[in-house]
Amino acid sequence: MERERMEVFLELFREEPPVYIQGLERDARQQGVPIIRRGTGDVLRFLLRTRRPERILEVGTAVGYSALFMAEYMPENAGITTVEKVASRLAEARRNFERHDSGKRICLVEGDAAEVLQDLVEQGCQYDFIFMDAAKGQYLNFLPAVMTLLVRGGILVSDNIMQEGDILQSRYAVTRRDRTIHARMREYLEVLTHHRELETICLPIGDGITISMKRQEAANEET
Ligand code: SAH
Ligand code: MG
Repeated sequence: MERERMEVFLELFREEPPVYIQGLERDARQQGVPIIRRGTGDVLRFLLRTRRPERILEVGTAVGYSALFMAEYMPENAGITTVEKVASRLAEARRNFERHDSGKRICLVEGDAAEVLQDLVEQGCQYDFIFMDAAKGQYLNFLPAVMTLLVRGGILVSDNIMQEGDILQSRYAVTRRDRTIHARMREYLEVLTHHRELETICLPIGDGITISMKRQEAANEET
């Protein structure tokens, strides 16, 4: 309740995205596609405008909403590589990119992120900004590759860390399937917040996000 009132209040100060983005948002919400919340969009916009990353990686495209949103606020010469594995989502994302990404700044990669991230590592790819927004139970599995792909000083944003509030519940209050995801997300948050190469903040924005920066200096082995 308090939270809803806060959302209504903050809406007054929110920059409206372009009209076509608003249309995509409406369609995605109607179809039940789990796109970023408004507050998450605010944080992405702020980070993209202030840090000006040029090489962006997104894990979990869905229909391309957040990729197109990010493309609006990234520098002119920047590019986004985005990964998705579900065929129906890929088809819709491709349509959306054809229609709205005339500069071809978004590169859609088909496949399971577990494999795609490994390929990117093998190709020696590097990113200044990574948006993790795929299967919540897999974030931890993706992290080693993500750490290799992220440059020092680069930013990792992870979405849906609160899982609609489930993360707060006792593990017995959630269903068996959710319990596994729930445990894995807690573990992911443990790892992120204790990682010697990362500085991380957890924020109750949208469905919960973390912002991590890969430290400029390599961690000392002894500490
Ligand atoms: N970033 C999008 C929403 C992504 S929803 C937006 O805000 O607009 C999460 C997506 O991740 C789903 O479409 C799901 O199919 C995809 N996904 C889940 N696990 C994946 C995996 N292992 N590899 C690639 N895509 C995955
Ligand atoms: Mg999300």
